[in-house]
Amino acid sequence: MKITEIHAHYVRIPCDMGAPVDDMGGISFPTMDHLLIEVRTDAGITGWGEGFGHSIIPATLAALESYIAPWFIGKDPTPIGALHRQAQQAFHLFGRNGPVVYAHSGIDIALWDIAAKRAGVPLHRLLGGSSRSHVRAYASLLRYSKPEIVARICRDCVTAGYRHIKLHEIDTAAVLAAREGAGAGIGIANDVNCPWTVAEAQAMERAYRPAALAWLEEPVFPPEDHTGLARVRQHGATRIAAGENAAGVHDFRDLFERGAIDIAQPSVTKIGGITEMRKIIALAEAHSVELLPHCAYFGPGNLASIHIVASLATDTMLERLYVTLAETPYGTSMDAKDGMVAVPQGPGLGVEPDMRLVEKYRQGRISKIS
Ligand SMILES: [Mg+2]
Repeated sequence: MKITEIHAHYVRIPCDMGAPVDDMGGISFPTMDHLLIEVRTDAGITGWGEGFGHSIIPATLAALESYIAPWFIGKDPTPIGALHRQAQQAFHLFGRNGPVVYAHSGIDIALWDIAAKRAGVPLHRLLGGSSRSHVRAYASLLRYSKPEIVARICRDCVTAGYRHIKLHEIDTAAVLAAREGAGAGIGIANDVNCPWTVAEAQAMERAYRPAALAWLEEPVFPPEDHTGLARVRQHGATRIAAGENAAGVHDFRDLFERGAIDIAQPSVTKIGGITEMRKIIALAEAHSVELLPHCAYFGPGNLASIHIVASLATDTMLERLYVTLAETPYGTSMDAKDGMVAVPQGPGLGVEPDMRLVEKYRQGRISKIS
């Protein structure tokens, strides 16, 4: 089998953020943008993947078109692990994190989709199998800042059946309002996206304690200051999560060896695809670190994340961004019901995109590399 063509579709879908745009506090997505990557083979099997993401998609697309996709054309997609290693070596001088790796991640996901389709099994069967028909999801909120809006949206999440919520708030008042809105017994985490020095992070960790957070995510800037993050964890009383900005399995090894995190959050569309994820999953298990994939998407990256979560030995949660898309090429297949998302059981990723909707929401031309 050979890879014959790689097509990329830059899709932009309007979405309802749950609050008016003027009430958003700095993290808002009036549209949800995806880079869908379609890998075609001479065997007639097509795989789908997704490269990160949001406003950096044009750069990921440029990396894909100029170097990453042409490198894969003509290659046999079957030996995924060896191909991944060769690709990493071929691409390493262009950056070990960022758009080059995001583009490679999307192709790697598509290769796993091809492998599972060829075997006629859902992807999770190739990852160790799963006895779960559904995975638990947590509602990952945007940043609203105003305490009354945070409290209202947390109440909405609980009404919708979620038992776990993640905020993206900075102000202590907004964090404490979430606990008021959700009530006791609901897991509330807070993701602050790398704003602070170590000393500031330590002070904020203390300030948030009345909210009894399930974890505090990425409190320290820069994300590669693993030693600083370890100090926050070792002197604090809150579990620490990070990893969506890590560069591959070796960055995770350093995070683990320094005792920097309780929860590892690799992102399948950023870290190097499913192949790199599998290495990190094994390493996290060896270091007794919990693994909760980062996953704020609605395309093949989310489907891959569902299969990954379903195949883990522990009962892990899926991140589900709390927005409502106008419509999606994947229909209702990834919707959460009572806080649970169904594990696709069809071959490969298990759901094929509706090309009519891909075309409806595509930005510009299809990018075709052959
Ligand atoms: Mg995060």
